[in-house]
Amino acid sequence: MTDDVVAIDLGGTKSVLALVAPDNTIKAQVRLETGREARPEAVLADFEEVIQGFKGRSQGIRAIGLCAPGPLDHEHGVIVNPTNLPHFFNTPLREMLEKRFALPTVIEHDAKAAALGEFHFGAGKAEQSLIYIVIGTGVGAAIIIHGQLYRGLKNFAGEFGHTTLDRFGEVCNCGSRGCFETYMSGPWIAKRYAMLNQEEISGAEVVKRAEQGETKALEVLSLAGEALGIAVASMAMNFDIECFVVGGGVSIAGELLLAPARKIIPSYSFKSVSSRIKLVSSALREEAALLGCAFLARQTF
Ligand code: ADP
Repeated sequence: MTDDVVAIDLGGTKSVLALVAPDNTIKAQVRLETGREARPEAVLADFEEVIQGFKGRSQGIRAIGLCAPGPLDHEHGVIVNPTNLPHFFNTPLREMLEKRFALPTVIEHDAKAAALGEFHFGAGKAEQSLIYIVIGTGVGAAIIIHGQLYRGLKNFAGEFGHTTLDRFGEVCNCGSRGCFETYMSGPWIAKRYAMLNQEEISGAEVVKRAEQGETKALEVLSLAGEALGIAVASMAMNFDIECFVVGGGVSIAGELLLAPARKIIPSYSFKSVSSRIKLVSSALREEAALLGCAFLARQTF
């Protein structure tokens, strides 16, 4: 009997399942297409096939940790209302998984799982506290204070992507105005580039062109980086946390995004706070959420 666990990152376009050993070695990993139209029963049937395969490669699986986009009720194990998985509306996924696989299961918000992964095993493993920022299609964060996830009363803590940078700014998907998300998400980067250059390309392509030195693409990433810097300065002033780890698709831009952010931070915070800020890229990338899920699964035994 070993203490392997299954980690699952359920997403709106794909899901990744991993068999994780006690030392965090990923013994097997499988990627499945999920898609907007995915229904819970069909997704669970696909998971079952993969987990059966994992059983053949393990001496014993003890638990499952799954993360998914929010909003999500961690306490009751319910996926509440994920924009990109509409058929998962109010789905009691923990109960469904526990019944199907007869294993203790934990359900966590994806940014929070990735934050736990980075905190325990990645860019934050020497830290007491950190804020993990995810910049992809949307922008979110997760806050770990003295080793504990800070959830807020209803698990909403960390929605800094929907706090306001400019009250006269454009209307955000959430209905509010001038949210941080509208200044740095992948779709925003693509939109801003189209405004400057009259060419519609993806956020990923903007990053590629910036890496090749294209001025307009560099300018857009620099603007996104500055918005990130203001966000980090504000969060540092509120929480007095020093370590900020940036993940998500857009973070592939690395220093093209982080250098402008670091440069602007001192202008928006006390020197005594800004001088201690460490702003770094995710060390674990896609594995951050999986290792966070594995960590949570291991808390059940
Ligand atoms: P999601 O947020 O949908 O879970 P991602 O974190 O991959 O997924 O973020 C997707 C966004 O990040 C897209 O808007 C895309 O333009 C951008 N993106 C994806 N891959 C890259 C990349 N390699 N470089 C830069 N941006 C990327």
